[in-house]
Amino acid sequence: MDSRGAMNVCILGAGVVGLTTALELQNQFPNANFTTIAHLFNQQTTSDGAAGLFYPSSTFYGPSLDITKKWIGDAYSYYDSLRISSDGENAGVFQYSGFRLSSSVPSLVRSEYMEDVAPVHRYATEEELQQFPGKWKYGSYCVTLGIECRRLLPWALARFQEHGGKVITKKIERFGELADDYDVIMNCSGLSAEHLCQDRLMVPIRGQVIKVHAPWVTQFVFSEHDTYIIPSGRGRVTLGGCRQFSNYNLSVSKWDSEKIREECFQLMPKLAIAPELETWVGLRPHRHPVRVEAEVLSIPNKRGGTLKVVHNYGHGGYGVTTAPGTAKHAVNVFRHLHARSGGNQLSKL
Ligand SMILES: Cc1cc2nc3c(=O)[nH]c(=O)nc-3n(C[C@H](O)[C@H](O)[C@H](O)COP(=O)(O)OP(=O)(O)OC[C@H]3O[C@@H](n4cnc5c(N)ncnc54)[C@H](O)[C@@H]3O)c2cc1C
Repeated sequence: MDSRGAMNVCILGAGVVGLTTALELQNQFPNANFTTIAHLFNQQTTSDGAAGLFYPSSTFYGPSLDITKKWIGDAYSYYDSLRISSDGENAGVFQYSGFRLSSSVPSLVRSEYMEDVAPVHRYATEEELQQFPGKWKYGSYCVTLGIECRRLLPWALARFQEHGGKVITKKIERFGELADDYDVIMNCSGLSAEHLCQDRLMVPIRGQVIKVHAPWVTQFVFSEHDTYIIPSGRGRVTLGGCRQFSNYNLSVSKWDSEKIREECFQLMPKLAIAPELETWVGLRPHRHPVRVEAEVLSIPNKRGGTLKVVHNYGHGGYGVTTAPGTAKHAVNVFRHLHARSGGNQLSKL
């Protein structure tokens, strides 16, 4: 607490999860002191390389189906309101449509989550399926949102600072380092939570993508074998991909690149002439279930209390999609944690 009695809260992590949590905290508690601590920002984060498609799969799961659906609904509303606001373009949020294709499994082209939130989600027509070379038997068409993290993250960071948030560049080895300076830590550290929390449920899912310049691609296509073509803002298109569990290797694999080119060019032959901008590897921070909950650690601070942490991590391949929803939940957990600990500090937040 500072000399005015206001809470000091640290948000650990400046990826999409940390920054959406930081903005939600400022929104709900304009009088508290918030500091974001991270060792990686903007283009250094996993969030920056994501394709940015709002389309959670059924493997994304929180503590219950109802809560998971609430996260997704809240996230969609957040981004859609941002999109139509005057900040929409700066924040890199846009609307687009596209297809999911399968040659053998009908359930692959359905999404219970998207059926609830997308303005349009229906089976693709025969004519629509025929535009894609290959034997596609099943398909769906969906209108959804794209989020370009290369614009969202700097926008969010600037907004956080404009509203009085402090930013520190630093790597933390353990939560105890923060105990004397902060009353609560919002733990949005992504894959690093494996080490910081000794969390055995955390696992990386390695992904590799090729970013190309192809402004004429305006719709996303997602097919079997993790093959996808996703417009990611300002003419950049993300070609993918792969999903390799427990693989921590961050170097580019030429085999993965070959597979990506072969399958994407088959789906959309004109991509073969698109200039390649970069090949990028990222580790999706996967946990089943995604962890949003409070923990009181037995780490004393100099004020005679113990350190409180609100965890918000483990979003796997869907962190860009779902971050504003889990952020809202994490901030509610934060509110209850303090109400429970008898903190009439809440009135000063
Ligand atoms: C190939 C690929 C494609 C993807 N496409 C999509 C997509 O289309 N849609 C979608 O929704 N998601 C997608 N994702 C998933 C998405 O990228 C992740 O879910 C998301 O980025 C996770 O965000 P995060 O904030 O938890 O983690 P990160 O972006 O990794 O941020 C972690 C932050 O914590 C900080 N941190 C960690 N440890 C410490 C420490 N010890 N001390 C200080 N700071 C620390 C880091 O510095 C960083 O700022 C994709 C991922 C990959 C790999």
